[in-house]
Amino acid sequence: MSALDALRSPEHTGSNRCWPCTVLNLLLAGAFALWLRFRDRRVLGTLIAASGVAIIYLRGYVVPYTPAFAPKVVAASPLPNEWFHDEQPPEPADGKASLATTDLDGETVLQELVTAGVVEAAGDRLLVAEDLDGPWHEEMRSLAGRSIDELAREVTRSLPHVDETDSLVAEGRSWVVVGPGEGELVARPVAVAELAAYRALADYLDDESTRLAAARALRMFLEECPVCGTGLVETSEVSCCGGYTKPRQTPDEVLACPSCDQRLYTFPSGDYSSH
Ligand SMILES: [Zn+2]
Repeated sequence: MSALDALRSPEHTGSNRCWPCTVLNLLLAGAFALWLRFRDRRVLGTLIAASGVAIIYLRGYVVPYTPAFAPKVVAASPLPNEWFHDEQPPEPADGKASLATTDLDGETVLQELVTAGVVEAAGDRLLVAEDLDGPWHEEMRSLAGRSIDELAREVTRSLPHVDETDSLVAEGRSWVVVGPGEGELVARPVAVAELAAYRALADYLDDESTRLAAARALRMFLEECPVCGTGLVETSEVSCCGGYTKPRQTPDEVLACPSCDQRLYTFPSGDYSSH
């Protein structure tokens, strides 16, 4: 290990580099160097500027605790956020994309599910009723075996409100594109889970929009990825060291498959009680 490697802080550099931290630190180091220059401390100023840049390059930041405040400063600034965050791959990254178009609120849907006997209360938790859980998981296993193109065709065939689907594969992830034109990108595990639930719910719910909303809501009960079987992890939306915060908004909690690198469910902020 070279002396430089010992100084290097990989968690804040390379692909993990936080651009708000870097930019803010360069500005601060520059301002400090300039201040010294005006105080006739030219050599010291140059030295500070040079070592500041070197440290920011190697360690991501020089001002202590930068990751705790820089993203907030940037988020509050009028500068567009995209300047500091890489263009995301073609993911509707919020995990809210769904095969369902209905806009029933979560509470109404859960109430309907309980009434229909699809979801049962067990102590202080809600569980998917056993009679539904079996068929749902069987459908998911069968759909997981299909290619993404076949899955897209199944979606068109099964859902009356969907006339057109396509598929998209990028960076090892795949989506069913629902609807004409650019459509809505529904992550493959989401499409598998929802289509399977929609089919399994046929005996329980007559109303089409309730059935679709229910298929969507059932995703929150998943414990394993329906495509690869990996255990899902609950994580927060924060993608940057200090938190990629939108002003005045707490990050959502999401249920994600670390292997497929896709989100299965996004819990609305402050509403984890149903899980
Ligand atoms: Zn997976």
